[in-house]
Amino acid sequence: MEKREQIYEGKAKKVYATDDPELLIVSYKDDATAFNGLKKGTIQGKGVINNRMSNHMMQRLEKAGIPTHYVRELSDRETLVKKVEIVPLEVIVRNVSAGSFSKRYGTDEGIRFEAPTVEYSYKKDELGDPLINTDSVLALGLADRAELEQIHRYALETDRVLSSFWKECGITLIDFKLEFGRLPDGSIILADEISPDTCRLWDTATGEKLDKDRFRRDLGGVEDAYREVMRRLETHAEE
Ligand code: ADP
Ligand code: UDP
Repeated sequence: MEKREQIYEGKAKKVYATDDPELLIVSYKDDATAFNGLKKGTIQGKGVINNRMSNHMMQRLEKAGIPTHYVRELSDRETLVKKVEIVPLEVIVRNVSAGSFSKRYGTDEGIRFEAPTVEYSYKKDELGDPLINTDSVLALGLADRAELEQIHRYALETDRVLSSFWKECGITLIDFKLEFGRLPDGSIILADEISPDTCRLWDTATGEKLDKDRFRRDLGGVEDAYREVMRRLETHAEE
C-alpha cells in the first residue's frame, strides 16, 4: 500500500489518497477543537489513543454485523480505510441526557432515558451543524428513505454493542456521534471515528467525565482521562 497525496486536513485528522482508488489513509492528530472550531488546543497523545480505540471499536462492530470502513491499522496514528462518500449527517445517539440535549430542552445532565434517542445534524460547518429531521434530510436529498432506515438501525445496534462493552469496563456510554458513508456499490457503512472525542464516557462508579468534555469545559486532566479510558479498554480486552 502506497501513501499518496494529502486530500484533506480536518480538525482532528488528515486524509491521504493511496495507490488504490477505493482506499484512504486517515492520520489522527493531537489537535483538539470545540464549539465549531472556536476553541483550539492540543491533547498530547490523543491521536494515538483515538486511532487505536476507534479501530478496536470498529472491529468489534464488524463482528456484530455492522459494516465499517476499517481495513487495517498501519501505525500508531494511521489506519487504512475504505473510501466512502460521506452522508453529510452527524448521527447522534443518546442514552443519558447531557450537552446540547440538556441545553436545548432545559434538563439536568445525567438522566437516563427509557430508550435511546437518535438525532441528526446537518454536517455543514458554515451553518454550525444544525439539527435536522428526517423529512428535511429527504427534502435536501442528503440520503434516501432506505438509507435513513439503514442508518437508524446501524446507529441503535452500534449503541447496544458499545454500551455493553463500556459497561464491562465500568464506563457509562452517555451519548456519541457517528458518520456513515456510501461505498461505490451504494451500500451504507460506518465511517469516521469512535473515540473520546466523539463519545461521552462517564466513570460508572464516580460519574467522572472521561472524554472531550474535560477539554470543552476546562475541567483539567484531559490527557489523563483519555489514557484512563484506553487503559480500561485494553485491560478488559485482554480478559
Ligand atoms: P472535520 O472534517 O469535521 O474537521 P476530521 O478532522 O475528523 O473532521 O476529518 C476527517 C474527515 O474525513 C471528515 O470530514 C470525515 O467525514 C471524513 N471521513 C471519515 N471517514 C471517511 C472515509 N472512510 N471516506 C471518506 N471520508 C471519510
Ligand atoms: N459530537 C461530536 N461532534 C460534533 C458534535 C457532537 O463528536 O460535532 C458528539 C459529542 O462528543 C457527544 C455527542 O456527539 O458525545 C452529543 O453531542 P451534543 O449534541 O450534546 O453536543 P455538544 O454538547 O458536544 O455541543
